[in-house]
Amino acid sequence: MFFRIDVGALVLATVLFTLSSPVAALSSTPDSMTQDPRDNRRYPVSGELLQDFAPPNADWLPGHRGIDLAASTGTPVFVPASGVVSFVGEVAGTPVVTIDHGLMRSTFQPVKSELNEGTPVRSGRKLGVIAADGGHCAARCLHWGLLIEEQYLDPRLLIERVRVRLVPEDF
Ligand SMILES: [Zn+2]
Repeated sequence: MFFRIDVGALVLATVLFTLSSPVAALSSTPDSMTQDPRDNRRYPVSGELLQDFAPPNADWLPGHRGIDLAASTGTPVFVPASGVVSFVGEVAGTPVVTIDHGLMRSTFQPVKSELNEGTPVRSGRKLGVIAADGGHCAARCLHWGLLIEEQYLDPRLLIERVRVRLVPEDF
């Protein structure tokens, strides 16, 4: 896919919601077909926004590839949208947890989790807790990122009807 995605433009994110349905990933869960996976979508923590999404214009440029939500060490982090835990571990010394939502995936740091990779998780379930060390959010916030393949998106797309526009790369 060769799209640049502009948040704040004209086409509803419904396209993304539709494409990202985790139902296929959760097909082994008996009730996953009878309940809309979006029903209980929520923010992973309730803290205020400390730093907004500011994606760079090119991969090698500095930017903020997610949002920072206030949360102190030990604060529980909840699953914002259903999916499957696809990574639990450290990246460059920062504890990271990743949830695969289907087409999209969420990353959370610094978060320590006792869940195992491959575990199906529903929105609202406790994912882990904010760690004291690791990354620019250590002990003071949650950094939440959202990706389609290697393209970073505003994570609020997952739970709010943020307007987006898909633009061909050579447009
Ligand atoms: Zn951040």
